[in-house]
Order: sequence, then structure tokens, then C-alpha cells
Amino acid sequence: MSDLALVLNSGSSSIKFQLVDPERHATDEPFASGLVEQIGEPEGRVTLKYAGETHTTTAPIPDHNVGLDMAFELMNEHGCGPAEVEITAVGHRVVHGGILFSSPEIITDEILGMIRDLIPLAPLHNPANINGIEVARRILPDVPHVAVFDTGFYHSMPPAAALYAINKDVAAEHGIRRYGFHGTSHEYVSRHVPEMLGRPAEEVNQITLHLGNGASATAVRGGRAIDTSMGMTPLAGLVMGTRSGDIDPGIVFHLHRSAGMSIDEIDRLLNRDSGVKGISGVNDFRALGELIEEHNEDAFLAYNVYIHQLRRYIGSYMIALGRVDAITFTAGVGENAANVRADAMANLENFGIRIDPERNAERSSLAREISTDDSPVKVFVIPTNEELAIARYAVELANRSR
Ligand code: AMP
Repeated sequence: MSDLALVLNSGSSSIKFQLVDPERHATDEPFASGLVEQIGEPEGRVTLKYAGETHTTTAPIPDHNVGLDMAFELMNEHGCGPAEVEITAVGHRVVHGGILFSSPEIITDEILGMIRDLIPLAPLHNPANINGIEVARRILPDVPHVAVFDTGFYHSMPPAAALYAINKDVAAEHGIRRYGFHGTSHEYVSRHVPEMLGRPAEEVNQITLHLGNGASATAVRGGRAIDTSMGMTPLAGLVMGTRSGDIDPGIVFHLHRSAGMSIDEIDRLLNRDSGVKGISGVNDFRALGELIEEHNEDAFLAYNVYIHQLRRYIGSYMIALGRVDAITFTAGVGENAANVRADAMANLENFGIRIDPERNAERSSLAREISTDDSPVKVFVIPTNEELAIARYAVELANRSR
């Protein structure tokens, strides 16, 4: 084995980790993977998957320090920890890079300070990411640590797409602009498309649709993102599992003034109790599909609102790009829900989009085409792999810094 990267995705009460060989094929299992969960709760749990087996430890996990120590102990105990395998680099998912970061960075004290300065833009996410970085740097002080930003891919979006039409002084003072998120996934998938088309990346215009629990659409011209559906926060754009996506901002004032809801209550409503869940009661697409089969009207309505908004974005990006060579579906829903793909692409033959129903219905974990051979716009399903993308960046930067 050449290099192994440890990829960490640190949330407020959990840490997802993977040990990844960056040269492996996208569909291969990671070398090892696991999850530290319920940090700060009375009973925490660490799960490790390695060599076809799953190992679990349960104990109180007061903080991220203890959590990562426990994960490393479990990995060492089963022969895949830093005591046994050589880790070339640690890649950290960092949600918000603001306008400071356009690409991954080796983490120094200065870079960490800059990530800390961005906390006001991502008060829920960046502190947890920073926590993970600090803990991992303590445990692995001699290994390069690399930050990979969710926003990086959107750093060079044209101002017309990035700016909101609000008072420019207020916007500048408070960092209000479209940053975009899921960038690592959109970039990973969009880089694969020119290969599938057999054309140079500079020539390819494409739309990528990351449809998971969170969901976003991105328009990419010649490898560069020119627009994306998430905004200053990941609440904007498409309808998601529990997030509303785009709504009239006047609704917030109305809920506050007329319904007497506090800002925190509205935040919770729009982030956790809206989207598909808000209309149907369930946020998981498999559960939604089951309800639809039982002819549940709310589920049907939630699905239709979801598809309507998705098509709205696809249409607007077709106009923004002028010519579209490929549309790609990825993430949990995009990779698995053939009905979502079929309904999102239905009746668009006049726009050069022709889906092959048999190809679309086929289940596979591989990147594949689901349009007809004569479809002018190619439609693909390409499984995303953010951990592999982060591992590749981490090892590349670590090797360059040596
Ligand atoms: P992600 O955030 O990418 O993990 O995606 C999670 C979403 O993908 C959830 O809404 C799941 O219900 C959905 N999903 C996963 N597998 C399937 C499947 N086989 N059919 C439909 N939806 C699925």
C-alpha cells in the first residue's frame, strides 16, 4: 500500500473517520472507517469497520479529545491504528472557508486562526471542525494536516451569481454573499464527467445534482462553478430532507411578528422541521417512497414540491450555461432513487434530454449513463465520494510540502 490518509469529518456531537488509500478505486471500500457518536451524552459509542468486521465500544465520551483517543485505541487494538499503519496525512472536512480559501490548505496555527475567524459565518459547523483539527493535531503532531473546504469550489463564482441584491455596505460588513456548499462533492463528480464524455474538461458545460439529506445543484462551465443553489448558508436552494430550501424571506418576518416565533424557533423550523419532512412527516426518501406507495397524500405532495424545485434549478442552470453537455445525479437520493431521476428529467426532450428507462432503472454502484445513445444532453449517475476526494487532496499537499 502506498499512502494512507486519515479523513475526519467532525460534527458537534460526532466524528466520522476513514482511513483511505487515495489511489484506490472510487467504489472500493475504505481501508477502515468508523464513527464516534453521542459525544457529550451520558452514553457514547465508537464503531469501527475493518477487514469485514465491525467493532464497537460504548462508554461516556465527554468531548472530542476522548472520542478520538477511543477511536485510535479501537483501531490499534484491531491492527489498523497509527501504531500499526503509517498515516501520510490527515484530511479534515471544513464546512466554511468564506472568501479566504479557494483550495485545500496545510493547517498551520495561522490557517487555524483564519478558520476560527470564520466562525460567525458557520457558528454550528466550524467550531466542531476546529475541535476535530485540534484534537487530531495533538494525537498526530508529526503528520501534515490538511483542511478541505466545502465552499472552496465556489470561490471563483462570478460576482453576478455570488452577490445578493441587498445594500452593498451591509453585505460587505457582514460577509453576506453566496458561498455554496457540498463543493467537494460537486467538484469530484464534475471532474469525472469529461472522462465519461471523452472530451477535454475545458469544453464541458454541465449541471451536477447532489441529492442526499442535504441537496444542492451546481452549474459548471469548463471545470469552474458558475452558480450553485446553496447560499450564504446550506439552508438555501433545493428542498431537502428537513431544510426548506428557498423561501420568501418575508416569511421569517411574518413568523416572528405575527406568529410570535423567536429567531431560534424559526431557525429550527426551517432547518430541522421543514423540507420533505415538514410536508410529509418523514425526511428519509425510502420512507417517503413507502408512504407514496400507500397513497399518502402528504407524501405525494412533498415529493411533487421537491421535484418542482429541482426542475426549477435545472432549468435556470440550462439558461445560465447556454449549452449543457451533461447532467449528473449523485448522493443517496441521486444515486438510488430512479423515480426522482425520471421525474426530474421528464418531458425535456425538446431540450435535448432523453432518459433511457431501462438504464435508469438499473441498480449499480458504478458511474453510468442513463440517457439514450442519441440524447444530445448526456445524463449520468456518478457515486460521490467526498472522503476519497479529501484523502487525495491531503496526500497530494502532504507530499508537496515534504
Ligand atoms: P446521503 O445524505 O447522501 O447519505 O443521502 C441520504 C438520503 O438518500 C436519504 O434520504 C435516503 O433515504 C436516501 N436513499 C438512500 N438509499 C436510497 C434508496 N435505495 N432509494 C431511495 N432513497 C435512498
